[in-house]
Amino acid sequence: MSDKYDVIVIGSGPAGYVAAIRAAQLGLKTACIEKWKDDKGKGINGGTCLNVGCIPSKALLDSSHKYHEAKDSYSAHGISTGKMSIDVPAMIARKDKVVKQMSGGITGLFQANKVTPLYGTGKLLKGRKVELTDNEGKQQILEAENVILASGSIPVNIPVAPVDNDVIVDSTGALEFTEVPKRLGVIGAGVIGLELGSVWGRLGSKVVCLEAMDDFLAIMDQQIAKETQKILTKQGLDIRLGCRVTGSKVNGKEVEVTYTDKAGKEQKETFDKLIVCVGRRPFTEGLLAPDSGVNLDERGCIYVNDLCSTNAPGVWAIGDVVRGPMLAHKGSEEGVVVAERIAGQKPLVNYDIIPNVIYIQPEVASVGRTEEQVKADGEEYSVGTFPFLAIGRAVATGDADGMVKIIADAKTDRVLGCHIVGPNASDLVQQVAIAMEFGATAEDLGMTVFGHPTFSEAVKEAALAVNGHAIHMPNKKKRK
Ligand code: FAD
Ligand code: AMP
Repeated sequence: MSDKYDVIVIGSGPAGYVAAIRAAQLGLKTACIEKWKDDKGKGINGGTCLNVGCIPSKALLDSSHKYHEAKDSYSAHGISTGKMSIDVPAMIARKDKVVKQMSGGITGLFQANKVTPLYGTGKLLKGRKVELTDNEGKQQILEAENVILASGSIPVNIPVAPVDNDVIVDSTGALEFTEVPKRLGVIGAGVIGLELGSVWGRLGSKVVCLEAMDDFLAIMDQQIAKETQKILTKQGLDIRLGCRVTGSKVNGKEVEVTYTDKAGKEQKETFDKLIVCVGRRPFTEGLLAPDSGVNLDERGCIYVNDLCSTNAPGVWAIGDVVRGPMLAHKGSEEGVVVAERIAGQKPLVNYDIIPNVIYIQPEVASVGRTEEQVKADGEEYSVGTFPFLAIGRAVATGDADGMVKIIADAKTDRVLGCHIVGPNASDLVQQVAIAMEFGATAEDLGMTVFGHPTFSEAVKEAALAVNGHAIHMPNKKKRK
């Protein structure tokens, strides 16, 4: 087989592998280069998402949730469990098995779609040539009509808490603890910090989240963020806002963290493990030859236009390495669109409708604009909220914390955003995402027949509440 391809993808995370599969489906001769290796040195696909991100974190979130439910909630249902125990190595081994299965699935999909997997490091040279250094160090030059860069992101390190992969870890290390730390510190109460803090908190750690910002989940709808903070605090998570970590000192098997609190006073706290979760940054190390023609922006992302084209002709970039939210599904969508554009089609990514989920319990999920954003845009809007406490199914299962909030344009009634904290929020928000894709109004959602009893009735009721028509709750607005 010649070394000239229609498409070479660098990176097999959810952006890259999806782009490669779609390109191959469209009849393009496609290769996907991946440098990730397993502990035996074998190349594996799936990137951050499958290996150290979405999938392993959800595996541990689900295991720890099951434990927590059995320990704390079953008795209310008349079920006694006796003395419970946790086998952390078994939990981690199950997570590893899930990861292996999913990553193997990508390799199988490559085979089925005739994508050529190439294991090693890819470097973009001038003129759409790619230098491949395989895992044995052997180099070859490949050529392509189009190159798609999907090199992803890595955790941000901060000098005040350097990761030693023993006492101080990043998100990857926090998926590998061999026992439950008694005292766990988390720097950064963002999505990943809250998820990992929840995993170990449910298993028994005393968790303290130190967050520099004064507002909790500042980019989220603040009504939902405040409700979430209340619920998490009730669950025992110690979230300290306005607390900026300024130093750390490892003493044997513990770490003393210094931080400035909201009042500007210096404070100290000692932990058995510290997880640094202060964000992720685009990864481009070793990816671009100096004359590749691809530019980076001021944040270190590969610069692309709305269609994911870089400055170099025939070179595209997608996923975490480009602007926009660092979410697996955002990168996958860009992957499909770029592959189809290469094949001559004209699709677009709808960046306005990208759902966002935090997999704590209850889940937090949103799509579209927040109330704060709509207000700042100067638009007139109406809001409908509905609590899960008034949803029969939620009361029956014992998951009645939280609410659904829907924001609609005051004149056209078009749905502008939906924000949920509550049971199955990740799936519920998707119903509104679909409605928004079809340009639905709050009335359209409210007039849709929802099955009873379901959690999703909260979506219907919140949509009805936008116009003061909710049935199972007194309406603030009285409208005919
Ligand atoms: P990546 O998944 O980072 O993949 C990039 C790949 O490129 C890597 O495999 C890397 O080895 C490879 N690569 C880089 N440079 C080269 C090179 N020169 N040659 C060859 N290969 C190269 N997102 C969600 O949407 N939902 C979640 O629930 C979620 N949970 C998360 C939980 C955690 C703990 C973390 C850390 C992240 C989570 N994310 C989640 C974010 C998600 O993982 C990323 O948004 C997603 O993986 C980005 O996909 P990507 O394909 O752009 O990059
Ligand atoms: P995210 O970007 O969602 O992963 O969240 C990362 C969080 O870490 C942000 O909310 C930051 O405010 C927070 N953060 C960054 N640096 C520090 C620090 N030194 N101390 C405490 N929090 C921090």
